[in-house]
Amino acid sequence: MKLIAATLLLSLSSTTAFAQSDDQPDWERVPQARPSATIFSPLDLPAPNSIRNGAGAPGPDYWQQQVDYEIDVEIDVETRIVHATAEVTYTNNSPDPLDYLWLHLEQNVFRADSIGNAVADAASIGAKPEGDGYTIYGVKHKRKELPFHVYDTMGLLELPKPLAANGGKFSFEIEWSFVIPKNVFRRFGIRKYRKGTVIEIAQWIPQVAVYDDVNGWNTLPYLGSGEFYTNIGDFNVNITAPRDFVVVATGVLQNTNNVFTPSQAKALGKAKKSEETVMIISKEEVGMNDSRPKGDGPLTWRFEAESVRTFAWACSDAFILDAASVDGILVQTAYPEEGGKVWAKATQMACKAIAGYNRRLIPYPYPVATNVLGPEGGMEYPMIVFCNGSRERSVYGVTTHEIGHNWFPMMINTDERRHAWMDEGFNTFINGYSTEDWFGPQRKNENDPADFAFMMQMAGSVPIVTAPDKLPAMALGLLEYSKTGVGLTLLRETIVGPERFDFAFKQYMNRWKFKSPQPSDFFRTIEDAAGMDLAWFWRGWFMEAGLLDQAISGVGKKNDRIRFENLGELVMPLHYRITYTDGSAEDFKKPVEIWYQSNQIIVNLTSNKEIAEVEIDHHRLFPEMNRDDNTWNVAEKNAEKAAVTETGTE
Ligand SMILES: [Zn+2]
Repeated sequence: MKLIAATLLLSLSSTTAFAQSDDQPDWERVPQARPSATIFSPLDLPAPNSIRNGAGAPGPDYWQQQVDYEIDVEIDVETRIVHATAEVTYTNNSPDPLDYLWLHLEQNVFRADSIGNAVADAASIGAKPEGDGYTIYGVKHKRKELPFHVYDTMGLLELPKPLAANGGKFSFEIEWSFVIPKNVFRRFGIRKYRKGTVIEIAQWIPQVAVYDDVNGWNTLPYLGSGEFYTNIGDFNVNITAPRDFVVVATGVLQNTNNVFTPSQAKALGKAKKSEETVMIISKEEVGMNDSRPKGDGPLTWRFEAESVRTFAWACSDAFILDAASVDGILVQTAYPEEGGKVWAKATQMACKAIAGYNRRLIPYPYPVATNVLGPEGGMEYPMIVFCNGSRERSVYGVTTHEIGHNWFPMMINTDERRHAWMDEGFNTFINGYSTEDWFGPQRKNENDPADFAFMMQMAGSVPIVTAPDKLPAMALGLLEYSKTGVGLTLLRETIVGPERFDFAFKQYMNRWKFKSPQPSDFFRTIEDAAGMDLAWFWRGWFMEAGLLDQAISGVGKKNDRIRFENLGELVMPLHYRITYTDGSAEDFKKPVEIWYQSNQIIVNLTSNKEIAEVEIDHHRLFPEMNRDDNTWNVAEKNAEKAAVTETGTE
């Protein structure tokens, strides 16, 4: 409704603007006043409470659930079957007793009759249903079977008695299996390379859904686009794989000496203290008998991970493995020989990316970071990322992006299924600065607002705050990644300024690390810590889809005043340059508050010099959609006047 009111007002003011954009503007005209509800009105955010306060920080009663997993998993490479058992310990820190738990069963999206498959089919994005999803062999508590109901990608677990509030604990065992789909479709998969097979495993655990203070149980199904929202917890995982396979995973490897040869274990020890990349398993060693520990039968790899939102892993008989250390973090890359020279640099790329984020943001929170080259094009998990690509630009680009996700959403644990912009967009924003860590100073930030103006029009009337599953694929990238990344860049570089912005952004991260902020917590924290009213920006950029069109609608006869108009739905500060006939120029910056009362403002000039030209956004800092009306030029005006006079005498 607010949007309609604003559009109406704009169409009124733009008609009058064009009618008066000659040499005799009606300067005495009373500017059209804004209606009471405008883009500058306070946002309609949820009322602050003792869980999430008015400053955007967690309050004294903030709580979140803890879910810890002890898992044994075995992979059969021939049949592609993953079979696992888990002991899950759920701690109910909420103030509410719980009668049941919801679990996510994401593998079920591959069933032919899944909702996700129907959605993909309807959108013609070529999903290939495969297999039966999860086979659940049973859910037990103290050896007693619990009622467990499967509804598409969600499972309902009935509890034997209500789970007490404020710290009640409940443990259950679950056993399951699934077949890894042959066709790589979304975030994990299997692929053959020259020397062997690379298998990436994710969304493989029936994880307990989030129960929170905002939505209760978060039961949005897994459809494909919307990613994940999970509880933070500890994972101890034992992975059993064929002896000739090397396993990498979320977490710290606990039994290095059992799963690596003595020389490999020694090299790994060296890598932990080396800035230079150390080879653990070289190209020549891949596939050689003595490159794996002596013995028969499969090997079990033990990993422990603290404070992670999920657990992913990869294994292969084709992996080259190298590693180095940055800021005390072990950085590894596992890749088949097809990765070539570029992937031989991937560990250094990851080190540079992490060092850059550590410097600009808050420190990487985990002891390990592993990059895997395999079937998945680019996907993030805590401490491990699945990447692809062959050229240096794309390999660094995808590596720094997926590693950046360790900040958003691994550490700042947002609800990706509802608010994809809070991880993809924030990550795109930090990636824009990370590029120079590897490639050196760049001519322009990748998230350049002026360049993005054209793309903004393509997104149509859909705002950023739309759940990812409800967006067409094109709009997903455009809004959740690009527009959000561009918006934060604009906010930092031009609207708030780097010093104020960085202080506020760090506050947001420090307040919410290993916690779950909502959009309102972000908006409030930035305003609170930057000390600015940004309702107009959150509304204009994130909640609505308006465009920016600033214009010059008149220059006074004596060149003593200029009238500027805001013709779009979006508002921004007004920057303009005046060039004088003597060749000198002056830049002026007006804050966004100039548009508080009206969409037109008059600026009185004080210089005695004669104006040659006025140009809005000369430095191209804003996503201006129509630059044709951004310039007023005296020579052009005089030529027009001469033409009119000529016509008049005929
Ligand atoms: Zn991403």
